[in-house]
Amino acid sequence: MNRDELAIELATRLAGRDLFARLALVADKVPGPIVFTTSLGLEDQALTHAIFSQDLAIDVVTLDTGRLFPETYQVWADTEARYGRRIHGLSPDRARLEQLVARQGINGFRASVEARKTCCAVRKVEPLRRALAGAAGWITGLRAEQSPDRALLDLAVVDAAYGVVKINPLFDWTRERVVEFVRHHDVPYNPLHDRGFLSIGCAPCTRAVAPGEPERTGRWWWEQNDKKECGLHGGASMATHGAGAAPSGAAAMSATSGELEKV
Ligand code: SF4
Repeated sequence: MNRDELAIELATRLAGRDLFARLALVADKVPGPIVFTTSLGLEDQALTHAIFSQDLAIDVVTLDTGRLFPETYQVWADTEARYGRRIHGLSPDRARLEQLVARQGINGFRASVEARKTCCAVRKVEPLRRALAGAAGWITGLRAEQSPDRALLDLAVVDAAYGVVKINPLFDWTRERVVEFVRHHDVPYNPLHDRGFLSIGCAPCTRAVAPGEPERTGRWWWEQNDKKECGLHGGASMATHGAGAAPSGAAAMSATSGELEKV
């Protein structure tokens, strides 16, 4: 079975299963190493729980940009303690990072979209390439309602840029459903979610959002365009199967402000 056929089969078979069954099916069907890249945000914590609690043979990796929130590092440590498994951290290439900082300054990413993408390329994209080298499957926490671009994906697609089948087990989940899952299973989560941070990335590039604002508004908020991506998720093509229909409507976009204690 080639990559396209595998993506179509997975997209078909993942639909209608719960999260635990989805991850177990992926671990069973993908013929080769599977990597899950976690940002330690809410969605990724739900996936981590489903992977670790079933002891699945999936490598859980995070991109340690060096600019993460202290709270994010604490969630990383808390999660390892909870499940007794390591989350592998990948740091930027030292020489490239030093060149970047020498060239644009420590916060040079604010100078232009180009400068920001260059910083993301060094701190995120290059380490991601290393994380996915030799992998057959890549699991992400992308959801359709997070942005119009993400809504074009599916539960499983081929990512030509990285040469993997990209699996998005939460593609058709709402944020409310993720919140409920995390709460129900008492999964460790970043306390910043309780302070209005819906999507959490690097500290200097993330802010809280107002209730009702789109989730990605808090990322690189000084940029005016609506393409709020860091270059990690650009190479996927849609699977031909449409099993993972995007949740629709304003209710899906106006996510909760992340106050897990109050949900
Ligand atoms: Fe650099 Fe900001 Fe991208 Fe992090 S999110 S890699 S600090 S530009």
